[in-house]
Amino acid sequence: MVGEMGSSLSGIKHKLNKTKNKFLRHKILREVYRKFINTYLRFKKRPSILRLEITNVCNANCIICPRLAHKRKLGFMEFGTFKKIIDSSKDLKIKTVLLQNFGEPFLHKSIFKMIGYACKNIENVNVVTNGSLLNNRNIRRLMNTAVKELSVSLDSMNPEVYNKIRRNLNFSDVFRNIENLVLANNSLPKEKRKKIRLTMCKMDINSAEENKFVRYCKTNNLIYTINDVTSWAGLIDADTLSKKRPDMDIKYIFPCKNLFDELVFLWSGEACICCVDINGKFTFGNIRDKSIKEIWNCEKMCNWRKIHLRGKRNKMEICRNCDYQPW
Ligand code: SF4
Repeated sequence: MVGEMGSSLSGIKHKLNKTKNKFLRHKILREVYRKFINTYLRFKKRPSILRLEITNVCNANCIICPRLAHKRKLGFMEFGTFKKIIDSSKDLKIKTVLLQNFGEPFLHKSIFKMIGYACKNIENVNVVTNGSLLNNRNIRRLMNTAVKELSVSLDSMNPEVYNKIRRNLNFSDVFRNIENLVLANNSLPKEKRKKIRLTMCKMDINSAEENKFVRYCKTNNLIYTINDVTSWAGLIDADTLSKKRPDMDIKYIFPCKNLFDELVFLWSGEACICCVDINGKFTFGNIRDKSIKEIWNCEKMCNWRKIHLRGKRNKMEICRNCDYQPW
């Protein structure tokens, strides 16, 4: 339901972005907003997606990442915490779990144990990685799991540009890993193949490569996503990285989908408002002492949803500066 609303709202927003008359845009948006609000009020009593921060440790230091502003203690999720989250998700019939938040999941020494446990209990297990640790051994182990989708952040097809964006990583290594991953996946029987997604964050530095990136993905039957760079609620200077970022002035009208759809657990087991909250300032319960249902429906989270539903998201410190567009 939320997904369907998401795509229809995206379509409306896209059309409105082309409407020059600001007054008209806001008038139409108010109407759309009123139409959707009732549906929103009947939101589900559980999240659709769980995003699990296996670790907040990373081996890269990308220019699009607010790592320097990240002040949380570094750590790795304990298997017991992970298991409790997965068991609780299974009880609630949550269908999708995404293994990644703020860090590189393949740095966790129990990542394959975690993937295995998640795959046994959850229908769609997706992993996001920077691709640097996908050596042949890890690729082989991955191919033996029931992971549905593996998403690799690439950002550039040009070694020099890549190394400037994904600092500390090396283009040749990552690109070789991607090629090996694609080969290994293609050698699996069709029904066991994973979806492989490459992602690119659009910036001035890589804007000339978009077509090449798309061609590569299409030639190799890969899914791809091209995103606009975000400021992580003002933690990085996104306007300097991308001078052609789209106009975000309609963002305050819509409630953020993340609050109604996705639940983020930090490595400590603490639930936080969304992936933008890199320092865990907006937390609302720990899986160690509460169930997912209790956390999802707690007073704090419900109040944040109400604030968004009333169109007052600019009253919230983190949301006021957020340009992340989950719709
Ligand atoms: S508006 Fe941004 S900061 Fe607020 S909940 Fe949504 S994604 Fe998170």
